[in-house]
Amino acid sequence: MKIYNTMTRRKEEFVPIREGKVGIYVCGPTVYDYIHIGNARPMIVFDTLRRYLTYKGYEVNYVSNFTDVDDKIIKRANEEGVDSTVISERYIAEVKKDMCGMNVQEATTHPKATEEIPDMIAMIETLIEKGYAYEVNGTVYFRTRQFKDYGKLSHKNLDDLRSGNRSLKVSGEDEKEDSLDFVLWKPKKEGEPFWNSPWGEGRPGWHLECSCMSKKYIGDVIDIHAGGEDLIFPHHENEIAQSEAANGTEFARYWMHNAFLKINNEKMSKSLGNFFTVREISEKYPLQVIRFFMLSAHYRSPLNFSDDLVEAAKNGLERILTAYEKVTDTAKKSTVPAMSAEEEEAVVKIEELKKKYEAAMDDDLNTADAISVIFELVKLLNTTVNDGASKPYCETMAATLKQLCDILGIETVREQELLDADIERLIEERQQARKNKDFARADEIRNTLLEQGIALEDTREGVKWKKI
Ligand code: AMP
Ligand code: ZN
Repeated sequence: MKIYNTMTRRKEEFVPIREGKVGIYVCGPTVYDYIHIGNARPMIVFDTLRRYLTYKGYEVNYVSNFTDVDDKIIKRANEEGVDSTVISERYIAEVKKDMCGMNVQEATTHPKATEEIPDMIAMIETLIEKGYAYEVNGTVYFRTRQFKDYGKLSHKNLDDLRSGNRSLKVSGEDEKEDSLDFVLWKPKKEGEPFWNSPWGEGRPGWHLECSCMSKKYIGDVIDIHAGGEDLIFPHHENEIAQSEAANGTEFARYWMHNAFLKINNEKMSKSLGNFFTVREISEKYPLQVIRFFMLSAHYRSPLNFSDDLVEAAKNGLERILTAYEKVTDTAKKSTVPAMSAEEEEAVVKIEELKKKYEAAMDDDLNTADAISVIFELVKLLNTTVNDGASKPYCETMAATLKQLCDILGIETVREQELLDADIERLIEERQQARKNKDFARADEIRNTLLEQGIALEDTREGVKWKKI
């Protein structure tokens, strides 16, 4: 598989560090509100990458964080007069609901910044020892000039950036040695959450959490680091500086960045009134449609969100589901036990289409072309599956269509059955939560299902559910 690497600005053959295994780190959302439709793009795109690599036989370790300490969370907590953990826990639960609706698989690990503070302090200490960081009045800064490769990912002219920063000097930052130095630890302010550290009470800078969590849950060197293109600078540049300076080794082999989602060809913003949360959109369209829509473009192309385009995606998906229904129904009813010569020829064509699909996905995850191949398969299905079609042919066709959709995280079953699939998925998530001792999440899932009239029963054979 070839992956476009932002670092080298080329498509490169993907070679994992450890044979058969892939470690992927995706920067996750800051949990101060519902996620917006733009945040859904990296979630869906990189979940599809994970599914495709799993299909290719890799064991994928997928890590995606929740930033649960941040100015925006603190602001919201102060507005509501609650602790900031109330805000972050509330929105982590809401993000997980949206992810489930979009068929985004739970990460292998979803670390939270507030639970990794000791590791962050340890990394800062290492950076200070190695001369890559310095403390001034309770704030610790990264010494960018010391890290010779600073700027290698974003390919920016650092002198221009420096002179730009000098003219925009932020008050209180005069103490920095260089205008590009960034914060690793900041002292607490009144009313903010804080932790003890060798530099006094305070909290970590945002960039640090990803360096620590990827190291802890994947290793010093990770295969793929991903996120939206706005994160290239400064966030990912700073992550590289911290990790490579502290660990003394390359940080990530491949850097993948999705382009932005626009709304009616404009940047999404609250002031323009074109800002939508996933939750709002879910009232208008099934989230399956949104997922299909997101994957209908290549992840590095800007994508425009408009009712017309989503409507077109909805019709496209409908065509696939109708075809799948037709082929599974015919398979059930068919009494023809063996394939005809024409069907055997069509099976060759099915295999060719599967190869074509894989070639598209191998080409830097070209889901747009992969979806075109699915439509070719649907066309073949519609011309070859009829009342006289044989059972084995219909089964082969159905299995292939389902497999190609599954890789994209697109369910081939319709609403009623989808509902059942959703229940199964939630039960699976609840089991996982219990395994991870996340009993709050486990209870939450049980209650969510109960609200929808689904009762769970834990039995010796596993979890059973019934409609009440
Ligand atoms: P944030 O919570 O702002 O850090 O965003 C979480 C993720 O969503 C990051 O990977 C961002 O790059 C990504 N993101 C934010 N806005 C958009 C957008 N309009 N289109 C695509 N990705 C976005
Ligand atoms: Zn990050």
